[in-house]
Amino acid sequence: MTAAARGGVTVRVPAKINLELIVGPRRADGYHDLSTVFHAVGLYDDITVTPASQWAVTLSGPYRHLVPETGDNLALKAARLLAQRAAAEAAADPEPAEEVEEPSRGPLRQVPSKPEEPQGIGPVHVHIAKEIPVAAGMAGGSADAAATLVACDALWQLNTDREVLDELAAELGSDVNFALTGGTAIGSGRGERVAPVLSRGRYHWVLAVAKEGLSTPAVFAECDRLRDDRGEHDIPDPQPSPDMMAALRGGDSHALGAALRNDLQEAALSLRPDLQEVLDAGLEYGALGGIVSGSGPTLAFLVDGPEGALDLAVALTASGVASDVKRAVGPAHGAHVLNAPAGTPLGRK
Ligand code: ATP
Repeated sequence: MTAAARGGVTVRVPAKINLELIVGPRRADGYHDLSTVFHAVGLYDDITVTPASQWAVTLSGPYRHLVPETGDNLALKAARLLAQRAAAEAAADPEPAEEVEEPSRGPLRQVPSKPEEPQGIGPVHVHIAKEIPVAAGMAGGSADAAATLVACDALWQLNTDREVLDELAAELGSDVNFALTGGTAIGSGRGERVAPVLSRGRYHWVLAVAKEGLSTPAVFAECDRLRDDRGEHDIPDPQPSPDMMAALRGGDSHALGAALRNDLQEAALSLRPDLQEVLDAGLEYGALGGIVSGSGPTLAFLVDGPEGALDLAVALTASGVASDVKRAVGPAHGAHVLNAPAGTPLGRK
């Protein structure tokens, strides 16, 4: 039986890489101000939410053992957060009462047209078909959170304003807003402020996924340590680079390859020196550019088309420097509903 037939909603959400990640000074709250160019690539998690008697999450796919099936799962946090928000809004702003006539009692009385708790909002079972590598710098957890917001919004027929979804997304994590948006976009603040960027073209990527993940806070801490060691205390406010903006405007993959930049790369390589060999191999085998994705350890190589992607994937695997190699095209759409129950606004009639 399909998810829609069981009354569920399935949402597809892409992984991201960062074409540019410029790290500003550390803020008082411990985060860093960033200027980043997010790029969604066609490597997806599918999230299905179904009404259930209690909140639960399950996983399938090659990376399922790396993700908690508990309340710590970001997808479950997202579902609960949206439910709380919807219940609070319904309580603060109940639907206006309707007047109805009761023939047996004569005069009109007031009855609420809707119960105070929006109907149908309640525990869900979230299933994550996980294809996005975990703790890999590809924002897989954030992607699942974004997809769950979209799926629950459709399941509960809330039609939540985008502004409110963005507010909840920012509360859940720095990369969740971009996973709602997809495409190619500039991120600022700690990444949660997402704005469109003029960009053309489709880009072919080869992704070398490491066996073991890297913790994002550990990579930022290493970046701070390296800067302190060098006495770099006057870190400028981060701004998008003119070279990156020009490459995206022109849709020129060679210019884009040359403009790739990640200020966390040095820190990721310092924690995982073995990645340098993979990076060197990708460039030697003909990539137009190569970069650590986000906080790593995934390496993203830009190539000039589908044949180039296949050649590089084969070369990296055959040479033994990388065992988990994927190909993906960007930009990809942000979190979007694949199917919803018949009869709902997004479902088939
Ligand atoms: P980012 O690039 O956003 O910093 P990442 O891609 O490096 O993140 P994630 O895949 O999001 O890392 O995983 C980070 C941690 O979050 C892991 O330790 C993982 O167990 C935990 N986590 C919680 N929920 C999820 C989820 N739904 N999917 C993936 N990881 C999750």
